[in-house]
Formats: sequence, structure tokens, C-alpha cells
Amino acid sequence: MKYRLYIYIISIALFSMPIHSYAQGFPFYGRTFGVLPYFEYGPGDDRLGGAKMTYMDSDVVVKVIDTLGTDYIIELTKNLHAFVARTSVRIDSQYKSKAYQLSGNWKSYSDDRFDYIRIAMPERLPYRGTMQVGPSRLIIDLFGITSNTNWITQVGNASAIKNTWFEQIENGLYRVYIDLKSEMHWGYAVRYDSTSSVLVIKVKHAPDKNFKNLRVAIDAGHGGDNTGTAGNISGRSEKRLTLDYAFALEKELRKSGVKNIFMTRNEDTSLSMQERILMLREASPDLLISIHFNSSSVDTVNGTSTFYRYIGFRPLTQTILKRMKELGLNEFGNVGSFNFALSGPTDYPNALVEVAFLSNKNDEKFILSKKSPANVAKKIRQGIKDWLEMGY
Ligand SMILES: [Zn+2]
Repeated sequence: MKYRLYIYIISIALFSMPIHSYAQGFPFYGRTFGVLPYFEYGPGDDRLGGAKMTYMDSDVVVKVIDTLGTDYIIELTKNLHAFVARTSVRIDSQYKSKAYQLSGNWKSYSDDRFDYIRIAMPERLPYRGTMQVGPSRLIIDLFGITSNTNWITQVGNASAIKNTWFEQIENGLYRVYIDLKSEMHWGYAVRYDSTSSVLVIKVKHAPDKNFKNLRVAIDAGHGGDNTGTAGNISGRSEKRLTLDYAFALEKELRKSGVKNIFMTRNEDTSLSMQERILMLREASPDLLISIHFNSSSVDTVNGTSTFYRYIGFRPLTQTILKRMKELGLNEFGNVGSFNFALSGPTDYPNALVEVAFLSNKNDEKFILSKKSPANVAKKIRQGIKDWLEMGY
């Protein structure tokens, strides 16, 4: 995975944008804006960026208490701060802070793919979602909110949500609990209604039991200017191989009757991570498989691996890894909390498959073998099926 070029391009894009003046006293208020703004836990940085707390809607009020480098430090509660890029916040000098922001009533209902909870909020304020397993539960924290929820209307039968309630944890921290019926997490999203300050929590139902009805998204890593890594011996670029393997997976799934397949790319095009995320949000798949090839500066490092960010999405990466090992590849491992951009969305379960190491001679031989794309595709298809069956 070579993201350096990508990060470099993004950095140029960020730093060439006008940075707002912050020569004013703290605290002050601002609003998030731009495409996919996000909060980070702290000033940490890594090859793929700092540890992300959450993606955030635009036009959400933030209380800025300090700056550090290119970030603002914002106060979510007295004891919880977050970092957000200064380029993702515009100052709102008109905003009048209030001693208390009160939550309103809730309404829950369902359609054929999602359960919804709509919470009337006084203002677009920050939130954060967390997945828990054993029992499976979603926790949605609403910051700066004081409860005045006295009415939770539940219409119809929810398919995914077993129970929901809230707790005022401390001043300015209102916590929504959502217990799920399934042990498996099928995805969720927290976003404001586009025209109001109503917060909408969308919880995805289990997909249809019939494998053929699954909506599968496939992302061939890199592409265009972003070539990724290259083969140790062959010099073959990762971006071409990911596309070959993505096509093989598409073919394998179509052969097993899956009709609804979404490919983030079908040719050698440059796509940013943000573009991919927004495309996928639109496509609303039941799951996403991202295909990449690994690379290490130590050429003896080898093996196959799968990656996830959120604990609730781990099972998909485990069933695929188990199947991949049947190809005779060594196990590099199952990696969690991984800060890969496409592991970030919570809307659908997702697995990053790093098939093997292009920097290792034996792995490279495997990767370049004519039979491998079809064999790997078959294993991924079996892993998806194992996962789906596990969820029922
Ligand atoms: Zn890669």
C-alpha cells in the first residue's frame, strides 16, 4: 500500500486552501464544512493519518478551545476533546451559546432495509457512534445535550433494533443505547436530516438470507496516478493487479447468482478516498470488499491478511482470512482498529483483503500466477457466505 503520494496530493490541496484567521480569544464557535469532515482523538499521526473518532456532518456547531498545528482542538464535553482540521471549520461569530441545549422527543420506524430513530435536536451538535459486541449494541453519544426527551414513539416492528433508551451520563453528554437483535452488526449511520436539526440514526437490517440477493461492493485499490506498490521481481504495479482481482471476484459472484455488484472502478482511473466513500454511500451495499497487495521493506515478510476498523465488522474479515489460508498462503494476520479510509464508514460491514506481499518473491509468484485471481475470488466468495450464514 503506497498512500504517500495520495497524502501528499491531499496535503497540497489542504494547505493551498485559505486558513481562517484564528487571532481571536478562545473559546469561539464554528461550524464544520466541506466534504466528509472528521474528528480525531488527538494530535497523533500515522502513515494513514491520525486516529479518527468519527466522520461528522457539515454545519455542525463546534466549540473551539485551542489550536495545535493545522488543527483546532474542540470541546465535546469538559472531559473529552477532539481534533479537527482547521480547514474543516468555518468560524460562526453569530452563534449564541446556551447554558442548556435540550433534546426533544424520538420517533422510531422501519422500511424494508433499515430501522430509523429520529431525535429532535435543538441544533446540529456533535455526535459519535461506537459498536459493541457480546451483546451487540450501538452507543450514540450526543454532545452538549441535556435530556428533555419524555416521549419515544415506536411505530411498527423494528427488524434490527431490539431495544433503545437513553441516559444522561453527565452534563452535556446524552447517550443513546441501541440493543440489536442479531449478534452481527450489519451497519448503521448517524446523520442529520438534510434540511433540519433532526438527528437520524439508521440501523441496517440483516441482508436477505439468499446469497444471490446480496448487494456487494468491490473496491480495486489505487488506480490512475496512484500506482500503489510494485512487484519485487516483476515490477508489476499494484493498481493493475487490484483491478484484475476485483474483476475475478465480480465474475465469481455473478457465477453464483449475485446480481447487485457495485465496482468503485472498472478502469485505470484516479479516485480519491473521499470519492470512493461518497460513491459507496450512494450505492448502499450490504458489504464492501477492498482488494490490495501488501509491501514491506523486509522482503522475507509474507502472508495473507485481512483488516477491519470496528469490532462489529471483525467477523467478515475472520471468515475471509480463514478461507484465504486454504490457498496455502502463510497467515500475516487479522488486523483491527486499522486506519484505512475505506474501513472508516460504519454504513456497511467491510473487509480490506491484502492478498499477499508483492515485496516477497514467493508471494509475488503466487500473485502473478494465472490461476490466482480466480482462486482468490472463490475463497473470498466462500468467506462471505460463511459470514452470512454465521449471522443467522
Ligand atoms: Zn495498496
